[in-house]
Amino acid sequence: PTSGQGVTVVTAAEDADEPRRVDFSLTGDGCSLSPGLPRWANYVKGVIQHYRAPGLPNFRAVVASSVPLGGGLSSSASLEVAFYTFLQQLKPDNGEKLGKVLACQQAEHTHAGVPCGIMDQFVSVFAREGHALLIDCRSLEATSVPLADPSLVILITNSNIKHSLTGSEYPTRRRHCEQAASALGKESLRDVTIKELEEAKEKLDDVIYRRARHVIEEIQRTVQAAEALKKGSYKEFGQLMVESHNSLRDLYEVSCKELDELVSAAMEVEGVFGSRMTGGGFGGSTVTLLQAHAIDEAILHIQEKYSGTPTFYVTTPSEGSRTLSL
Ligand code: ADP
Repeated sequence: PTSGQGVTVVTAAEDADEPRRVDFSLTGDGCSLSPGLPRWANYVKGVIQHYRAPGLPNFRAVVASSVPLGGGLSSSASLEVAFYTFLQQLKPDNGEKLGKVLACQQAEHTHAGVPCGIMDQFVSVFAREGHALLIDCRSLEATSVPLADPSLVILITNSNIKHSLTGSEYPTRRRHCEQAASALGKESLRDVTIKELEEAKEKLDDVIYRRARHVIEEIQRTVQAAEALKKGSYKEFGQLMVESHNSLRDLYEVSCKELDELVSAAMEVEGVFGSRMTGGGFGGSTVTLLQAHAIDEAILHIQEKYSGTPTFYVTTPSEGSRTLSL
């Protein structure tokens, strides 16, 4: 906090758009928190706008992140949630975690213009070390599922590709799903069974049918995957990851040649249970679940087979946002 005038925020991320320092006022003329340029500052302004306690003091902040920007690994949600956590140190809100998640999602809707769901912000807040998180996006309830077997690791592979599409893919997919639900007389695809979808197939446009089919089956797969993980059936879990990838590729059509190559290469390695794309698609990263002893071979093999230059991160599930003493 400062007693000086206004707020200054600097990002150390070289990939953020210029300028990497912004100065604005928390009170001012009322539009100082409106979205504008640079784009990266919109996430920060959005979080301030939706922060759930009045009377923030002026401050100066530096953002430093190890999450690659735009790599499909939710760097934007991590920025929102980390910034919210920072604001909580300046002027505590009521500490209620779900409110924090929703405020960060709102920031993305109003200030980044992305009508995103809740997953990225949710896991950034609620993640527990050594656990995966099963999220019910309708009831907003979540269950932590242990994923701490020391013989396992998760390999993240960034394709370092971002196909520049029009940016309307995400909203279009979302709209198609809403159209499918409405054609079936349901509020949400959560309420539609595959049988009901098949019975209505003739009256649905083929694209809308395939988008809906992906979503309905993916909901089932997610529940099955959590069950598999609870039983320690990593093989079944891995198989579901690959089925998910194939469905994202063929039915939802958000994969690309590079992500498909990375998944295929990973699946050729002994000790790999499963692999799939993650994030918004058309580039970004894959997630691979494998036996820890196979990690070196997997990295070498993927490097050899991939047509581009990948970046690797070897991880295990870690805790959500929190303060660290420096
Ligand atoms: P993803 O969330 O998958 O990484 P997005 O395109 O949704 O991809 O969000 C990436 C954007 O988030 C960046 O272009 C940048 O504007 C912003 N961002 C993320 N991390 C940072 C950071 N550390 N500093 C500044 N801006 C960031």
